[in-house]
Amino acid sequence: LRILGLETSCDETAASIVERDENGEGRILADVVLSQLDEHSVYGGVVPEIAARAHVEALDGLIVEALHRSSMRLSDVDAIAATSGPGLIGGLLVGLMTGKAIAMATEKPLYAINHLEGHALTARLTHGLAFPYLLLLVSGGHTQLILVKGVGDYERWGTTIDDALGEAFDKTAKLLGLPYPGGPAVERAARTGNAERFAFPRPMVGEARLDFSFSGLKTAVRQAAEAIAPVSEQDIADICASFQNAVSRTMKDRISRGLARFHERFGKSVEKPTLVVAGGVAANAEIRSTLETICAANRFAFIAPPMALCTDNAAMIAWAGLERLALGLPADGLDVAPRSRWPLDENAATLLGSGK
Ligand code: ATP
Ligand code: MG
Ligand code: FE
Repeated sequence: LRILGLETSCDETAASIVERDENGEGRILADVVLSQLDEHSVYGGVVPEIAARAHVEALDGLIVEALHRSSMRLSDVDAIAATSGPGLIGGLLVGLMTGKAIAMATEKPLYAINHLEGHALTARLTHGLAFPYLLLLVSGGHTQLILVKGVGDYERWGTTIDDALGEAFDKTAKLLGLPYPGGPAVERAARTGNAERFAFPRPMVGEARLDFSFSGLKTAVRQAAEAIAPVSEQDIADICASFQNAVSRTMKDRISRGLARFHERFGKSVEKPTLVVAGGVAANAEIRSTLETICAANRFAFIAPPMALCTDNAAMIAWAGLERLALGLPADGLDVAPRSRWPLDENAATLLGSGK
């Protein structure tokens, strides 16, 4: 089976062709991603209107490029998969409408894909991972710990009650005068900093529920910077290192609890408990090594897909469509509407009962 995938939910425009064989193994035939970073960086964040226009301009060309790189024609694919939420509504409209137009013209089924489901199922494309497993999604828009039980079958165990983790990195960078996106800039500055200089709060540490919170941490960073203004290079490095340290400690507490809950729930019935990480923050070496350490200490395998598949891409959307297609799950009608908000665990209800 082969599918064309489209992704336009945020600031990456992407098109991909992915194949799945009878054994369930996936192969990416083409994965073309155009980041709009340059267009947004001058504003210090993603501007929805600019994003939507950029998707319109880029998407057709990227689809042609993906077909070209995989030596395919539209008639060679079995279905179309397009992200239909959650995300910025303008971008979602562009991708979903394009998907509908191609589906209509080629008379192929259309799968309207939840972007988060794309992230959730990526480890099955890259590693052939079996259900169930835990997914930690840490990006600019999301911070969630999700139990992935099956296609369309998810339990959200924890989510942020305020800022996403990537957002906390971006805001910290901004108030220190570092460039956007903030994650890489903060990580770089932290390398020469003293992580013990500031005792920043470690939000949620010790709480039984598995949620996250990062806005208090960001406020503490602002207060520390204001107290010593004007900040020197070394102050910035120390703040970044202390911030990253607080984040790592927080993640250690939160994720350890998540792994323990998985063990409680599944005991020995899951042969190899696995934690998968996705999202741009997965690029952070300190956070990654913290996760590796926690996993090793808790008898968990740790999977971090290649960075290009951790950040936004269309191969994951294509794969989510293929998983649905392979299971014989119904395609979506051409009247399906994009949704800026669309919690992942709602899929379960949709598939299991309500019939919508
Ligand atoms: P969405 O949340 O919709 O998936 P997004 O575009 O916000 O989309 P990604 O592209 O996956 O998410 O990730 C971008 C985020 O990752 C930004 O907030 C960025 O600061 C953060 N990030 C990137 N590199 C690093 C790093 N080395 N350390 C920490 N954060 C990082
Ligand atoms: Mg992005
Ligand atoms: Fe994403």
